[in-house]
Amino acid sequence: MTKPSATGRPAVFLDRDGTLIREVGYLSRPEQVELLPGAIEGLQQLQQCGYALVIVSNQSGVARGYFPESAVHAVHHHLLDLLESRGIHITGMYYCPHHPEGSVKKYRKPCRCRKPEPGMVEQAVRDLALDLSRSVIIGDKASDIELGKRLNIKTVLVLTGYGKETLRKMTREHAKPDYVCHTLAEAAQWICSETDRD
Ligand SMILES: [Mg+2]
Ligand SMILES: [Zn+2]
Repeated sequence: MTKPSATGRPAVFLDRDGTLIREVGYLSRPEQVELLPGAIEGLQQLQQCGYALVIVSNQSGVARGYFPESAVHAVHHHLLDLLESRGIHITGMYYCPHHPEGSVKKYRKPCRCRKPEPGMVEQAVRDLALDLSRSVIIGDKASDIELGKRLNIKTVLVLTGYGKETLRKMTREHAKPDYVCHTLAEAAQWICSETDRD
């Protein structure tokens, strides 16, 4: 049975590069977007289980001067179209263009939104009236898992993108994800089965 909730619905916070789409290193063009195996299936299942799907992505390539924000928008527009065509509705899409050592002055700063800082998730919770306590985060980097730990929500590490490297480097027990898997489809199965148990 699902617990009654005074606030909104739970979300799955999804990293973009290396989790939803292939990690290519500072991806900047729509034609580079390639969904990872199991991504469509996984997102469809999470949606059916009642989760809002929210993408949270560090895009320091903007601060580093590799591409402008308009390139991020073009990539996101394409990605959303791809997903919509498969019946997947992304409830929110957030990115951080900053970096403390960026070369573009406008974006060079320590900010509250670059993961593992919680700014993007906090903004999403406010914008979309989400129930953070029942939410989950999925990503391929330590910063994704650390963000989940800070927020005290469930964390899933996918072994795509930098995932294998991330797992190798994780030594501290408290930094470890709640679940590790190979694809977003497996992540969704675990999350939905955990939801049933709550
Ligand atoms: Mg990633
Ligand atoms: Zn930022």
